[in-house]
Amino acid sequence: MTLPIKITPTLNSKISSVDFDNIPFGQVFSDHMFTADYIDGVWKNCEIKQLGHLSVHPGNLAWHYGQSIFEGMKASITNDGVPLLLRPEKHIERLNNSARRMCMPEFPEETFIEAIEKLVWMDRAWIPSKKGSALYIRPLMMAMDSALGVRPSDSYKLLIFTLPVGPYYNKPVSLLAQDEYVRAADGGVGEAKTAGNYAASLYPARLAKEKGYDQVMWMDAKEFRYIQEVGTMNIFFVIDGKVITPKAGGTILKGITRDCAITILRDEGYEVEERLLDIAEIIEAHKNGTLQEIFGTGTAAVISNVYKFAHKGVDYEIDVDQFKVSPFLKTYIEALRAGEKADKFGWLSHLGEGVLA
Ligand SMILES: *Cc1c(COP(=O)(O)O)cnc(C)c1O
Repeated sequence: MTLPIKITPTLNSKISSVDFDNIPFGQVFSDHMFTADYIDGVWKNCEIKQLGHLSVHPGNLAWHYGQSIFEGMKASITNDGVPLLLRPEKHIERLNNSARRMCMPEFPEETFIEAIEKLVWMDRAWIPSKKGSALYIRPLMMAMDSALGVRPSDSYKLLIFTLPVGPYYNKPVSLLAQDEYVRAADGGVGEAKTAGNYAASLYPARLAKEKGYDQVMWMDAKEFRYIQEVGTMNIFFVIDGKVITPKAGGTILKGITRDCAITILRDEGYEVEERLLDIAEIIEAHKNGTLQEIFGTGTAAVISNVYKFAHKGVDYEIDVDQFKVSPFLKTYIEALRAGEKADKFGWLSHLGEGVLA
């Protein structure tokens, strides 16, 4: 059973004020948002309406104690104007996994997907059509009780809103392997897409920038030896033709782009290993000339190449012009999102007028 969604289209579209050839990332929001409230143990008040501000009490529990989780996904559009979603069911599954870890209520899967389909369809004119650009979708759930006291909130809000984003020009990046600060430890919340993980990453990221590196490569919390992930991306290495990515064992965020990459590469005949990955192995491969590629995967940038990493004061460079797996994957995923490639894994949902029925 799905919850009813009340729809009130805005009479004040802001779309004519947007320059779609020049969209600053994260700053332009489309017309509508979905909201739902969790009150007295049930989700209710599902509604799509004009995007607007919330009125929040100073005692809001999410602000004080951090019960706040989110997702990031994208809608794209085909040349014929059909909006597409890529694996929305994986995003609600992950949102609900994050919710459980943070003592927050799960949201019904079908209503979540229906809400996104309706929202994206209503704002389909906001989906930039240029290859590589998309409508970024941000679901956010947060505590809404107004009280102090460290305990799970009784009330929550789920919001879903969208932002058009241009093709993400991902310049190759440099990484600093952290050997002092950690992102996630065994038993912690590394696998949850929860606000505090990002707050905790800001200071080490600033230190890395001051030293001239773009992002932090996070290492395991015990020995600073095993590679976890990068900033807001999962990380892949190609050594001697073999693709290796750290195992998702609770301390890394299980990226959906990561899962797509693994599936596509295996289907193309690549050997892909998910396992513990000691940085000494990467350094050794760099020394003996078998380290071919390093790249990150994530919904926002899709694929980002890594041209350099640093570990214990030594820089290791790698020639991104020789990369083969990474450009193959980027082209593949972008073509899939543009509806130009056969959807052999059944990942795409095609939206039409029917979603409003
Ligand atoms: C969201 C995120 C990713 C990438 O996940 P995708 O589902 O591929 O977008 C990787 N690492 C972290 C820390 C993230 O927050």
